Amino acid sequence: MQILVIEDEPKVGHAVQEGLQAEGYEVVLAGTGEEGFFLASSRAFDLIVLDIMLPGRDGLEVLAALRRQNSGAQVLILTAKDAIEDRVAGLDTGADDYLVKPFAFPELSARIRALLRRGKSEPAIPLKIGDLEIDPVTRAVVRKGTRLDLTVREFELLEYLARNHRRVVSREMLARDVWKEPGRATPLDNVIDVHVARLRKKLDDPFAGKLLHTVRGVGFILSEEIP
Ligand code: CA
Repeated sequence: MQILVIEDEPKVGHAVQEGLQAEGYEVVLAGTGEEGFFLASSRAFDLIVLDIMLPGRDGLEVLAALRRQNSGAQVLILTAKDAIEDRVAGLDTGADDYLVKPFAFPELSARIRALLRRGKSEPAIPLKIGDLEIDPVTRAVVRKGTRLDLTVREFELLEYLARNHRRVVSREMLARDVWKEPGRATPLDNVIDVHVARLRKKLDDPFAGKLLHTVRGVGFILSEEIP
């Protein structure tokens, strides 16, 4: 298992590196956000321990850039005790878990083990978009207090759109990531469009305020605002 630690305080960074190495992980330490992002883009890590407070490119910027690259690494952010907004922003940006500084090493180690057991990066916290709430664990979808009855595929489609909230999702991305088909094909495009239409009927038709928008010629976007 390969872990990247991005931490600008040498004492903390080295302690974490040595502790994790002693547990058998391969650990690379980066002292700045730039260096960390470069390393994370050039090789595949299973997990990244990311400090939020970094000089220059901070942890949230690094995280956003990683998620734009579709990095599948688990990301555990380290935040200061009083920075609740950082934690929320971090989870919104795609962190899988967070730990408040100062922390005890066994706590970090336990969180890392739990994340690595979970495998592929998909935060298990409920996703909230406006009045819509999606629970990835129970697969419950609620809008304005009303539970929506979705098929498995509709749920996967909605969850994917929600994880890419306010970003345009192309049919190519849906084919690859939701339908798990490497190439795009006309019949599959039609299938995707049918599912989007069905999802829209359940998600938007009964409610005021549309969430699922079509971006002509590009794809779809889940957003409270009209794109
Ligand atoms: Ca720091």
